Amino acid sequence: MNQQNKDALTIRDLTLYYGASRAVYDVNFVLKPLELGCLLGPSGCGKSTLLRAIAGFQPLTSGEIWLDGNLLTGPSVSVSAERRGVGMMFQDIALFPHLTVDQNIGFGLEDWPESKAEQRIHELLDLIGLHNLGSRYPHQLSGGQQQRVALARSMAPKPKLLLLDEPFSGLDTEMRGRLASEVRAILKSDGICSLLVTHDQREAFDFADRIAVMSDGCIRQFDTPFNLYHEPKSPFVAHFVGPGEMVDAKVSDPRSVLSPLGILTNDTDLGFETGSDVKIFLRPDDLVHDDDSSYTAILVEKHFRGAHHLYQVRLDNGVVLGCFAPSHHDHKIGERIGVSLDIEHLVVFPQ
Ligand code: ADP
Repeated sequence: MNQQNKDALTIRDLTLYYGASRAVYDVNFVLKPLELGCLLGPSGCGKSTLLRAIAGFQPLTSGEIWLDGNLLTGPSVSVSAERRGVGMMFQDIALFPHLTVDQNIGFGLEDWPESKAEQRIHELLDLIGLHNLGSRYPHQLSGGQQQRVALARSMAPKPKLLLLDEPFSGLDTEMRGRLASEVRAILKSDGICSLLVTHDQREAFDFADRIAVMSDGCIRQFDTPFNLYHEPKSPFVAHFVGPGEMVDAKVSDPRSVLSPLGILTNDTDLGFETGSDVKIFLRPDDLVHDDDSSYTAILVEKHFRGAHHLYQVRLDNGVVLGCFAPSHHDHKIGERIGVSLDIEHLVVFPQ
């Protein structure tokens, strides 16, 4: 028994060059059984390269890939793509137009006994909510329905790991978010471990238990959506996973900083020397409109969001920050309003 047996997918010290050019390096992460993971990052950061390496389409320069305790790729080992037990669903869903929904889903089950295959197809039709559409052809389905059939087809042979390569990127924003959550629920109820590639932060948050944020060929942080948002480990991750601004501050004691909005105290030591200049990262949900606050700012922009307004306010030092206000507080652009910070955990970076 080795340590990888407890994990579904283990990537160890993975580095991959295309010729002389390094595409991915020093990648280490683990997905636990039933866990839904995500590779998130801007175009060209190496997400698809990593996914193709896991699928067995791309040889590694060095490192190891383990699945369910079996070494798939490593020094002198390379299990072929079709023998890995890894399923894939691509952006270009390419259902077979001349096959019905049932036949599309059953496409990878030709080696299964007929009754077992039929049972699996029905189970999947139920799971994707299309149980009475099995005899339709792809052109008789909506885009979202076709996407679900493509998902069912890739899940049908019960892969040990399902790789999803930007499967929602051809769809509009609202549909993307909805399908990412739906696919998450379907994979969870079928018990399939999966890894999604996307450049869209909201899609990643809707889908994954843990997300590897990548840039320039390596993983900057592998963490839960909550921690990436509230405890980013670098300015890159802080900016990539949601809106926010860097603000100058000075460390006033091991747990506190002096900011343009007063002294802010953290729940733990900040890890910076007292007196050092730092930057704090503030998200719109950290700053609230507060009539009783002694700190004020000028309202420079506002967006109605239903339950609340998203204001942009300019502090006296010129920094513009996002700020939430209840929607019945309808202030005018140019007005000076009270603001205060509501933060449990400070995000602090060196200057
Ligand atoms: P992403 O999926 O994040 O957009 P890719 O994995 O496609 O990124 O690409 C990572 C880097 O590797 C990029 O610099 C890209 O130009 C390069 N690259 C991708 N595929 C090849 C290839 N077949 N040959 C050479 N370079 C490649």
